[in-house]
Amino acid sequence: MSRCRRAAFTLVELMVVIAVIGILVGLLMPAIQKMRKKANETKCKSNMRQIYLGLALYRDDYVSRSEAEQFPARLTHLFPEKVDNVRVFLCPFDGAKGTAGSRSDGQFPETYETGAEAGTKPCSYFYEFCWKPCSWYSGTGIGVAPFVPAGSPWSDVKWKQLKEGDDWLHTTYPGSTGYGGDYFPIVRCFWLQENLHPSGAEGSEAQMINDNREKNVFNLSYNGSFFRSGMKWEWSSEK
Ligand SMILES: [Zn+2]
Repeated sequence: MSRCRRAAFTLVELMVVIAVIGILVGLLMPAIQKMRKKANETKCKSNMRQIYLGLALYRDDYVSRSEAEQFPARLTHLFPEKVDNVRVFLCPFDGAKGTAGSRSDGQFPETYETGAEAGTKPCSYFYEFCWKPCSWYSGTGIGVAPFVPAGSPWSDVKWKQLKEGDDWLHTTYPGSTGYGGDYFPIVRCFWLQENLHPSGAEGSEAQMINDNREKNVFNLSYNGSFFRSGMKWEWSSEK
């Protein structure tokens, strides 16, 4: 047997092969990441629709109550009767798996469900509605919402917004148009938005400009339809 038989690969050939594989992986990576992002978006939307279905079932059960009380105080109270899988409350983009609440920037922590509160589970989604007992319910009325009588609980404020939209904000934030009652967001996902504006004054012009470059917020409206929006809260009808 010849001792000088050519090696299967020379070092140079091996390095060329590795470089080619590297280039191919580099070319494919963005496509793979895009596909994964798309799949996660679909999963998130599916979660939100299941939550909405749970809310609708809940409303059917409590149709005899006052209107505002036809909503659960927390989304995860829908488990187990109306939503039978706690994973439905977790967005695939949420690295904290629901324990950080619905926004990673610490805004409005009172409205977060992190699973720490009695009777709740970790939850990635922002819920626009809560009735007493709710940490936003002070029992002394909501001063910034002139359309409900003094002493109204938070649930009444939200109920009014869901039914009639945000006309009252026209005066609070001049130039805003407000969400119409039929598409007022009731369940929202903020986890697709990267680089959240740090906690700042709600409604500040700088925040609105910064937060609305991309429409990365998923919204399920009161009528059950799905739409994307910027990081806007209640002062704009931009969809
Ligand atoms: Zn999501």
